[in-house]
Amino acid sequence: MQRPYNFSAGPAAIPLEVLKQAAEEMLDWPNAQGQHCGMGVMEMSHRGKEFQAIHAQAEADLRELLAIPADYSVLFMQGGGLAENAIVPMNLSARTAAAGAQGTVDFVVTGSWSDKSQKEAQKYCQVNVAASNQSDGHVSLPPATGWKLTPGASYVHVCTNETINGVEFQSLPDLKALGSDAPLAIDFSSHVASRPVDWSRVGLAFAGAQKNLGPAGLTLVIVRKDLLGHALSICPSAFDYKIVDANGSMFNTPPTYAIYMAGLIFKWLKRQGENGLTGVAAMEARNIAKARLLYDALDQSSLFYNKVQADCRSRMNIPFYLRDESLNDSFLAGAKAANLLQLKGHKSVGGMRASIYNAMPIEGVQALVDYLHEFERTRA
Ligand SMILES: *Cc1c(COP(=O)(O)O)cnc(C)c1O
Repeated sequence: MQRPYNFSAGPAAIPLEVLKQAAEEMLDWPNAQGQHCGMGVMEMSHRGKEFQAIHAQAEADLRELLAIPADYSVLFMQGGGLAENAIVPMNLSARTAAAGAQGTVDFVVTGSWSDKSQKEAQKYCQVNVAASNQSDGHVSLPPATGWKLTPGASYVHVCTNETINGVEFQSLPDLKALGSDAPLAIDFSSHVASRPVDWSRVGLAFAGAQKNLGPAGLTLVIVRKDLLGHALSICPSAFDYKIVDANGSMFNTPPTYAIYMAGLIFKWLKRQGENGLTGVAAMEARNIAKARLLYDALDQSSLFYNKVQADCRSRMNIPFYLRDESLNDSFLAGAKAANLLQLKGHKSVGGMRASIYNAMPIEGVQALVDYLHEFERTRA
């Protein structure tokens, strides 16, 4: 039997190959040489040689996949994306502030997630909203040339893919060219590993794993090493990047099973190929094709539509609406019957949402498009 296509925004679908391998290895994990140890990954000490190998391999594969430069630390933490909304300001906001004074951080508000980030940060620093797309309902991106950046700010926060509103930066802002010396901190939770990252423009990136990197519980932080060591005195030690880094993400017990699962996904990503491309570049090509297929279907429909300005549309999260909202329930019931799961939109914006992360094959998007056509033909 074919598994249904799962369009959940997160926790989200995981490649079947990865789930099968995890199931096979659950009771007795084999190392790279095929030697068994009699333990499952959940049961291992995080300091034992078996888990140390899993952890080191996951980091090495991630560094290769995302081309992370050597002067960046890769931290495997807990707390999720929302905890990072506090942890990032606790670590970076005092960076350029006078002793004892609160630092200033610039936020670009482009949707629900960046808005949450700026609100949480107000507990720890002076927040300047440098730009916002609030007035158009978060369906475009404020052009970087108009951002009101603060001279001497400790960092600039941008959410590079707004999971709920469906807007995505197609390239990262070049803060230097905009006259700012501040490092850029990005929340890339919902499009990590879906496209390459230009690290020359990034000081820090964080992501919860449950969209594109496996199960919930793991939070990935990638931070340029010169930004470490500025934590506020109130910052919990387990969330002080310098301490986490100095202990190789083992200051406290890391989310071991989620790190193992992310490691399996990194191996899966490395096996992907598309038109002569491999890894994340192959995924990007596939993600472009998937998104185009769905947006074209929505744009050509007289029943369904997407509201986001064409050049800001997310490749990962595609919110859409029915012109006749009274059909919403029958649309969702029919989708479920057609093996298309979790298409209901976020409660704050309503409508529908198709999240088509790396694990969603183009066949799944095609099945959704076929269903859209059929629904429109028979019900509208
Ligand atoms: C899902 C998501 C988060 C997540 O948060 P959790 O704390 O892990 O629930 C943060 N930012 C973005 C952009 C997200 O999509």
